[in-house]
Amino acid sequence: MIDIKLSIPAANWKANLTFEQAVNWINYMETNVSRIIIDYQEYIKLIAGVPYVYIKPLKDISKRVKIYAQNMSHVLKGAYTGEITIIMLKSIGCDGVILGHSERRNIFNETDELINKKVLLCQEHNMPFILCVGENLEQRRKGIAFEVIKNQIDLALKGFNKFELMVLAYEPVWAIGTGVPMEISDIKEAASFIIDYLRKNYKEVPVLYGGSVEENTAYFATFKTGLSGVLVGSKSLDPIEFERIVTLTFSGVNNLQFDKEHFET
Ligand code: PEP
Repeated sequence: MIDIKLSIPAANWKANLTFEQAVNWINYMETNVSRIIIDYQEYIKLIAGVPYVYIKPLKDISKRVKIYAQNMSHVLKGAYTGEITIIMLKSIGCDGVILGHSERRNIFNETDELINKKVLLCQEHNMPFILCVGENLEQRRKGIAFEVIKNQIDLALKGFNKFELMVLAYEPVWAIGTGVPMEISDIKEAASFIIDYLRKNYKEVPVLYGGSVEENTAYFATFKTGLSGVLVGSKSLDPIEFERIVTLTFSGVNNLQFDKEHFET
């Protein structure tokens, strides 16, 4: 048997989809998937980052999809009106959480220190997480992208050592939601820097690319780049489109040819 690698296609719905649409999305992933997804399901970690209020009902109907929160509180419990804590997420069977997304950092002013608190809560409570890092356009233009990424990783991971819980998502902020993904050659360069940095200073963990991912990017960003998958925003909302991204991510990670046979059901 050839050595098959784990691929991680992750959807981030953000503040989108009605509950009915969300249920249809999960049902689609449970039933209308390609031969590849069925045959290699144990090598495909299919994740959906969903709104808090959908976590429990979607967990109840989904077998193939891991249901993640898109955020969580940095506090454990107490007088913090409106917060959703890791204890609450664990108590409804949530499979994991996305931390440090650039929209949380930029719109809701989340700092590296705050993200570190959340990472340490995940460690303490054994909660899998996807840690998002990435430079903005100004930082890229100044040539300090890798410095920024390194810094975000170091600050988020202070005191952390349970690497089996962690996936890292590299998401250049300037490529998120713009419809223009990073050039594949640049993705490859950033991937090799991040993978190397983690291996030398921490541990080898799966690394994803995120930023305007569509079908082509899902394949070429994972084909011989060392990346394990993709984190997808807008193109994850349509289950038909995302199912193709799942198949192509597996194909890219495993160096398979990009051809239409993959999509047969
Ligand atoms: C994201 O939300 O993590 C993301 C990458 O969004 P988009 O695919 O829409 O750029």
